[in-house]
Amino acid sequence: MNIILLGPPGAGKGTQARHLVETRGMVQLSTGDMLREAKSSGTEMGKVVADVMARGALVTDDIVIGLIREKLAAGAEGGFIFDGFPRTLPQADALAELLAYEGQSLDRVIELQVDENVLIDRIVGRAQEAAAAGQPVREDDNAESLKTRLIAYYKQTSPLVGYYYAKGKLTRVDGLGSIDAVQDEIAIALDGSSTANT
Ligand code: ADP
Repeated sequence: MNIILLGPPGAGKGTQARHLVETRGMVQLSTGDMLREAKSSGTEMGKVVADVMARGALVTDDIVIGLIREKLAAGAEGGFIFDGFPRTLPQADALAELLAYEGQSLDRVIELQVDENVLIDRIVGRAQEAAAAGQPVREDDNAESLKTRLIAYYKQTSPLVGYYYAKGKLTRVDGLGSIDAVQDEIAIALDGSSTANT
């Protein structure tokens, strides 16, 4: 089964993806993680994206599509969880093509719905916790970049909600519930067929 976790920064996509990896043996593909890796490895591409990411803007479709293409070719027995990808309509079209090329399809898109004020609190809280624990703080977890990331989400990514709704693949989940409650709702969406477009 291949799924997308869709939602603004701070919605809990990473937390839920990790749980699905542990319980279902799925493979998480986070373009954010891949880009951060490229950034720290000092490759040409890493240098190109570092600036864009620090500002909170989106890197070009070509770059992220290239990253996903490589990973898809390797296959995943338990299926893929796309986390932070696609983020634009061209990326969504590219994903459909890449999956078709691999003889695969997209099974479900889970939209984690979260209130904007909660997102800001969560991300600022995450950065403060990391700083207090002496852990690295993400360069884009500051108020200014966060604003850019939220605007990018609403402008460029949120049209995907309608796109996948029209394809009958969308399930909306209340991302404000506890981690366990969200896990349960996602499990129902993935295991039950009666939840299409709820
Ligand atoms: P967030 O918590 O903001 O959802 P991510 O770790 O998913 O963070 O992504 C961090 C940054 O990496 C984004 O702000 C953007 O600059 C870049 N990025 C990640 N995925 C994509 C993508 N699919 N398309 C364009 N840029 C991306």
